[in-house]
Amino acid sequence: MDEVRSGAAFPDAVARTAWPIELHDREEGYRWEPFDTDHVHYVPWRSLTPPDVDNVVAVGRCIDGDTAALSSVRVMGPCMAMGTAAAHALDIVGEGSVHAIDIRALHARIADNVGGAD
Ligand SMILES: Cc1cc2nc3c(=O)[nH]c(=O)nc-3n(C[C@H](O)[C@H](O)[C@H](O)COP(=O)(O)OP(=O)(O)OC[C@H]3O[C@@H](n4cnc5c(N)ncnc54)[C@H](O)[C@@H]3O)c2cc1C
Repeated sequence: MDEVRSGAAFPDAVARTAWPIELHDREEGYRWEPFDTDHVHYVPWRSLTPPDVDNVVAVGRCIDGDTAALSSVRVMGPCMAMGTAAAHALDIVGEGSVHAIDIRALHARIADNVGGAD
């Protein structure tokens, strides 16, 4: 949550979005917290690669994150960016491990989705 608010550009960022915190977790309505106009936050590769499962890449609503972060990064734009990153990553590693990917090689493929992350 703090990392979403701060817009930290993770070294292993693979997607970004400025979508608000959008929590549908209460009967009386939903929580909607927009950010400043120049805000953007990032999704790190480690959120897509569960450490206890070998060579599995999760995307979209299946990634790891706290409730508030997931309420923002689950929308379609970042989901597409995560899927793009996953496909390129699997192509880059081939028979190797997604846990040991050369993140610079991945960033070279997805630069449009993480501009400024490096
Ligand atoms: C009512 C509603 C309105 C929304 N409106 C917006 C909006 O306006 N803008 C926006 O950006 N986002 C919106 N969202 C959010 C966004 O659509 C979802 O968060 C996003 O699509 C999640 O992507 P995903 O890839 O994680 O999952 P999904 O898009 O749900 O994709 C998962 C896919 O896996 C398939 N699947 C499931 N189980 C299996 C299986 N066993 N084998 C094979 N395939 C399987 C499903 O059929 C589905 O096609 C909305 C969501 C909802 C529910």
